[in-house]
Amino acid sequence: MMYQFRQIPSEAKIRKHLRKIVFGSNIFCPICKTRKICKNNDRFWCSKCRTRFSLLSHTWLAHTKLPLQQFWLVLWCWTQQVPVKQTAKLSQLSRTTIYHWFDLFRSHLPDDQDTLEHLVQLDEAYFGGRNGRALFLGKQIGSRKIAYQILSHTNPNREHAWKFLHSYVAADTVLNTDGAAIYKHINDWWPVYHNRDIHKKFEFAHTSEVEGMFGVLRTFIRRMYHHVSCDKLPDYVREFCCRFSHPEMFDSPYEYLLITLRLATLSGLIKLCVDIIRR
Ligand SMILES: [Zn+2]
Repeated sequence: MMYQFRQIPSEAKIRKHLRKIVFGSNIFCPICKTRKICKNNDRFWCSKCRTRFSLLSHTWLAHTKLPLQQFWLVLWCWTQQVPVKQTAKLSQLSRTTIYHWFDLFRSHLPDDQDTLEHLVQLDEAYFGGRNGRALFLGKQIGSRKIAYQILSHTNPNREHAWKFLHSYVAADTVLNTDGAAIYKHINDWWPVYHNRDIHKKFEFAHTSEVEGMFGVLRTFIRRMYHHVSCDKLPDYVREFCCRFSHPEMFDSPYEYLLITLRLATLSGLIKLCVDIIRR
C-alpha cells in the first residue's frame, strides 16, 4: 500500500482540515453566506438559496478526482520540494499527472512582487542558450524581499535595467550591480545611489548575494523539474521566488491550502461585510 507515510493524515482527518480551511469554524453557503445549512453525509444544501455544495465544490479543487490521501501526498511532495520523478513513484501516478498537479499548485501562488528599498543588489542571468531568456533579479539585502523580470531575449540594455528599477526599486535606494555596461550611469535614469563591481579586478562583494541566488535557482529547477523550457521559465522562477519570500506557505499542505483555498471565501466574507455596512 502507498499511504504508509506518517506525513499523510487519514482521510477523515484531511476532510476535517479542508472543512476548517475552506469554511473556518462554521459551514456557510458559498453563494449567499447564510449559516442555515442542511447536511447529508458530505453533502450540504442551503436552506435559503437552495444551493447544493460539498467541501470543495466552490473552490479551485472542485474537479479533483484524486482520492484525498493521494492528493495530500502529491501536495506534500510539492511543498517539500520532492522532485517530479520521485513524487510520481511515491504516489503511483504518471509524471505527466504530477507535472499537471505541480502546475496547478503553482498557479494559485500569490502573484504580487515586492518593491525593494534600502540596499539592493541587482544582477542578470541567462537561460536557454542564444535563443533563450535574460532574467533580472533584485534582492533587498538583509531581507527575504526579491523581485524579478524576464525578457523575451538575451540582450538586455540600459532601458530594460531602467524598467526593472522603476517597477521594483524605490527611489533613494543604494543599488549595487556588477560592472556591466547596461548599468553605467544608471543613476541618471532612476534616483538611486549606485555602486558597481568591476569583476576583472576581483570585486564580487557588491553582487555576491544575488549571484548566490542564481545558483540556488538553477539547482532548484534541475532537481525538482529536471530542465526548463523558455515557456516554463517564468512559472518556475515565480515558484522559486515565492518559496524564498514566503517559506511559511510551504511548511505543509495545510499552510499552503490555508492561503490559497481560503482566499476565495475570505473575499466572499469581505463582500458580505461591505453588503452589511451598506444596508
Ligand atoms: Zn445559500
